[in-house]
Amino acid sequence: MRASLRGHLARAVRGGRVSTLLRAGARAAFARFDRSLPGPLGGPLLATFAVTYRCPLRCAMCDLPARAGDELPDAELPRWIDAIAALRPAGLGFTGGEPLARRATLPALERSVGHGLVTHLNTSGVPVDDRTADRLAAVGLASINVSIDHASPAAHDATRGRDGAFDAALDAVRRLAAARAARGASFRLHVVQAVDRDSLESVAALERTVRAAGADALSLLPVHTFPATPPTAPWPVRPELPSALRDVPLENSRAYLRGIAPFLAGARTPGACSAPRTGLFVDPRGRVFACTPAATTRGAGLAATPETLAAVVRSGRLGETVPEGRCDRCWWNCHRELDVAIGRRPKAASAGARDLLSSRAR
Ligand code: SF4
Ligand code: SF4
Repeated sequence: MRASLRGHLARAVRGGRVSTLLRAGARAAFARFDRSLPGPLGGPLLATFAVTYRCPLRCAMCDLPARAGDELPDAELPRWIDAIAALRPAGLGFTGGEPLARRATLPALERSVGHGLVTHLNTSGVPVDDRTADRLAAVGLASINVSIDHASPAAHDATRGRDGAFDAALDAVRRLAAARAARGASFRLHVVQAVDRDSLESVAALERTVRAAGADALSLLPVHTFPATPPTAPWPVRPELPSALRDVPLENSRAYLRGIAPFLAGARTPGACSAPRTGLFVDPRGRVFACTPAATTRGAGLAATPETLAAVVRSGRLGETVPEGRCDRCWWNCHRELDVAIGRRPKAASAGARDLLSSRAR
């Protein structure tokens, strides 16, 4: 089992949140079997709130900063968080853009933690100075991800469109680790590397660098391009673990890691992702989607308000927000890892896909 999942379970037990655990277990069971029902029985397991698309970086693979514009007013964020919390997801992740580019994000994190939600933050690390690190360590987060794409500072800066981005991200890891120790906080601190075929060779070196800086682990996500190019190859019968990853301790499951090389080679990924039934993504304008890729591929999403959110989610219409043909070019970490964790089998998948998704080597 992945260390972060073990950590979340242990925190729930220590915090006496047995009902949360039971609910998450029941929803995972529903998610595994409920695809033939008209709507999600269990409600979302993974909720994500993109509080802004503003961002100080200009990554080559991302157009979100160019889409920054209208945002929910600060005064509405608490109502949205309350509405998401009322759906009782197992966890709520804050993302962007760069979520820390918005001052209202810190109070929003506090409100999420106050609801007892397993609360997670994604950041580029650029806005994390000593004061911000200390405030984040005091919030009671379950986990923080900092994005670093390459062991070479120059290569990371080139991808991220800003000189000094690597140093800023690594400094953020050091600051967060120091603030965690000073506060006696317990959040997991991960670095997420968006890998392509060239940067796979840099994984081992980056893993050593970020662990030395105080991160608990390195986690991988293959680079997704939007719009996605059509798949050009079938999924292999038994995907191989890339040799560059064989001896590197990583946060991902082995099953997920074995899918990275075929994905980067353009293979059609196995279908039947559970995100339309287990995911919920709220964008900065309050449009809702099943998953992050559905929102980032410029789908229209569904209109909702805090008052109608529950009805929209339970209508079973979140699946409509995933653009046609998107899922066969998607190997998004959170949802595909969730499917591995709950043992969900792909519908009408190849033997290779069944093998991949049923394999839980760690
Ligand atoms: S840091 Fe994230 S949101 Fe900002 S440009 Fe890069 S990928 Fe996009
Ligand atoms: S495969 Fe990707 S795009 Fe499709 S529903 Fe799952 S996370 Fe969303």
